[in-house]
Amino acid sequence: MTAVGEYELRGVHVAFPFEPYPSQLVFMDRVIEALQAPHRNALLESPTGTGKTLCLLCASLAWRQMHKAQRQVDQLGLAPVTAQGAAMLKQLAAGAGGREREWLGGRAVAPEAPAQFGMAPAVACRIIYVSRTHGQLSQVVRELRNTTYRPNVSILGSRQQYCVHHDVKKVPGGQRQNAQCQKLVATQSCQFHRNVVDHKYQHKEVLTDALDIEDLVKHGEKHKVCPYYLTRDTANDADVIFMPYNYLTDPASRKSLAHLWKDSVVIFDEAHNMESICSEAASFDLTHTDIAMCVTEVDRCTSIKESGIEFTTTEPATQEELSILKIILRSFEDALAALPLKGSPASATFPGCKIYELFETAGVKHDNATELFAMVSKTMSMLAEAQGAGIQANPSLKKFSDALEAVFKASDMANCNRLYKMHITEEPERKGKRAGPQSITDLQPTLTLKPGQKPRQIGYWCFSAGVTMKEILDQGVRNVVLASGTLSPMSSWATEMQMNFEVKLENKHVIREDQLLAAVVRKGPSGVTLNSSYKNRENVQSVDDLGNLIVNVCRIVPANSGVLVFFPSYAALTAGTERWKQGSVWDRISKQKQIFIEPRESGSFKMTICAYTDEVDRAGSNGAVLMAVCRGKMSEGIDFADRHGRAVIVTGIPFPAAFDPRVVLKKAFMDELMPEARAEGREAVSGEQWYIQQAARAVNQAIGRVIRHRNDYGVILLCDERFANWTKQAKFLKKSNVLVHWCCKFIVY
Ligand code: SF4
Repeated sequence: MTAVGEYELRGVHVAFPFEPYPSQLVFMDRVIEALQAPHRNALLESPTGTGKTLCLLCASLAWRQMHKAQRQVDQLGLAPVTAQGAAMLKQLAAGAGGREREWLGGRAVAPEAPAQFGMAPAVACRIIYVSRTHGQLSQVVRELRNTTYRPNVSILGSRQQYCVHHDVKKVPGGQRQNAQCQKLVATQSCQFHRNVVDHKYQHKEVLTDALDIEDLVKHGEKHKVCPYYLTRDTANDADVIFMPYNYLTDPASRKSLAHLWKDSVVIFDEAHNMESICSEAASFDLTHTDIAMCVTEVDRCTSIKESGIEFTTTEPATQEELSILKIILRSFEDALAALPLKGSPASATFPGCKIYELFETAGVKHDNATELFAMVSKTMSMLAEAQGAGIQANPSLKKFSDALEAVFKASDMANCNRLYKMHITEEPERKGKRAGPQSITDLQPTLTLKPGQKPRQIGYWCFSAGVTMKEILDQGVRNVVLASGTLSPMSSWATEMQMNFEVKLENKHVIREDQLLAAVVRKGPSGVTLNSSYKNRENVQSVDDLGNLIVNVCRIVPANSGVLVFFPSYAALTAGTERWKQGSVWDRISKQKQIFIEPRESGSFKMTICAYTDEVDRAGSNGAVLMAVCRGKMSEGIDFADRHGRAVIVTGIPFPAAFDPRVVLKKAFMDELMPEARAEGREAVSGEQWYIQQAARAVNQAIGRVIRHRNDYGVILLCDERFANWTKQAKFLKKSNVLVHWCCKFIVY
């Protein structure tokens, strides 16, 4: 340690806004360890409340400063071990937190590329900081402002977040808004867009002041400049770029920002869902109804074209192209209907490459897929532009376009069979109301199926997150850091992401032992064994005694405090609450605390969370109990700090649905992968281990609600006898904790 506020880790001087805890120093040390070598990747877990984001920022920015200085010394050909080299390196890397660039004559120059050394500014690695939502990114930007580092920053967002055009910002729906904007930009009719050129040189604060999305919108309104295009422009000069996951994982977004990735350090914060996000990004589901809707849209486009509307956005599709597109879609529909299925409900699973046969039957191959892709894009643009005539762009063509992108990007057929499966099943019935009255989705799709034939759906599923991660790494990314409060169990990450993590950390918590009680509860107050397994589903005594336990917890947890009860599934939540309402349990819980239930519909989510929080905060309240589900929104993204989450009860183990074809196929895929993982020196994870780890990650997320900062305290109760095996670590999982490290440490039996 050199002084309070500045710490030397692996030769890098890190400026930290306050005296760090030992666990924070360990965390920053691991970040730097990874970044000090190209292609050395890290998997870093640190519990919520341990200042993970601040550590990621300070360590990566300090390393970047040193790295840049080193490059400048290298440019001069001075080894840092010489007196001159060492002095210069110190000078260049000094002043951690100093502004990296000064603005002279309206252009950026680097002051630490001193003229006395006669050097051009060295190019340093860019840091790409990725998180799940823009709300989380805004928090990261606020954390950055708490440090002494002042890098040039850009935060990328969508037009829906950034548009300041009086009319366009009110256009509902991202696709329509994009189309409106593109139309104005193409005709130079948006004054905010015209003002982007050179704005960053006149207003250096857009790069230097770590503005978040809200600030940038205000700035755009004040200076009559478009924040959307401005941030895309400033990204070219930024030392740190903030963006949500999909800008990197979605192939189209990644391609549009391709110039940013090379030699960058990519930090994925809140990375616990990366495996499913990456797999999803390479997969799709497409139904007969989707295809029929595409045909309807193409027909609609033909009518619009015949009506003589002038299109300005892009070159519109020709009548011939629209006819070809329609023929291809109808042929694809027929080819899907002709596939042999078995059983009831009828289904079949094929190797991934079967998808090429399906497309080929419709006349689509690798050599003409790009042409088809262009036709679909033109049609989508035409529909989006025609929204002025009351037509709302429909997502079906976008789905078809995404499917084309997913299938025809891969040319390695052997890999396709190994990593993908095509699963065909009957299409589930459509439920719920469709989009508004003027939507094209109100138009009835016409299926060309034979009488008695049921519509089908294709699932083209990628089982390896490594497909997307490889595409990211292939962009020339220097290092990848995956960080989260809950990465445990750690063992499957390398196999799943198909990459090596040389640096791994399961960090300690910063709390004292008296701040957390964690316990496995095997029996309820009446002595009935608690077990929510499928086999035990008829055991109402077990459900009742679980209810009695919740009553007791609600009695003990003080007034003006909240209890969070997580069920393994919505089905278990419904069964449990219905049973308790039939007896006395529900009333007894209600007498202790007001009950709230996590809604299935996302529309009611905000209302429920506000009502729960208000009840906990209400003067004179006894507090509240929130019944929610593992993997639901309440268990992942919500901060129940202090009184809002004083106790967390987990009522069972949230295994994925065992008979879901996707789960069955994924388990088989993990088993197949074991010899390859062993041969490559990676920890092999069987299908069964993967299955348990999925449940464990969901539990870890839920129990992560209880301690949100270093002064927080609370109780975790794992109310299922099977948790005892987990916490003692079943034999086949002994290499890695199943539950997060910090919880295992505190647990009692
Ligand atoms: S250029 Fe910017 S301000 Fe103008 S319409 Fe597009 S997003 Fe809106």
